[in-house]
Amino acid sequence: MEKFHEHDCECCHYLGSEKKKKEELDYYVCDQGDKRPTVIARFGVDGDYYSGLFPVKGYAMQMLDKQQEKTLAEAVLSLRKDKSDLTPLIEATARAIEQGFLDENLNMKTVEKKLKM
Ligand SMILES: [Zn+2]
Repeated sequence: MEKFHEHDCECCHYLGSEKKKKEELDYYVCDQGDKRPTVIARFGVDGDYYSGLFPVKGYAMQMLDKQQEKTLAEAVLSLRKDKSDLTPLIEATARAIEQGFLDENLNMKTVEKKLKM
């Protein structure tokens, strides 16, 4: 897959791209070096991006209260069908879950590093 835009953060994992109407979106999940992940949907070069896992989490939590989804990850995956201001960030988050970067509580999974016993 080809990225539409330059992006130069070393902590970011590329999650694929998508063209939506006029917007060409590149999706990323970033652990920001300290395990507090964020998601990014970039639509241009100079600071043109949406970011933030926090609003997505809040939205998913509301959904857990109202409906039967059991985990935040399940809530995010079903929110994907809705249209909202958060749509690009929800898409990025859903991809991060599907590609194994975020766990069911939307925490960054530890992929490479193992805990010492
Ligand atoms: Zn990054």
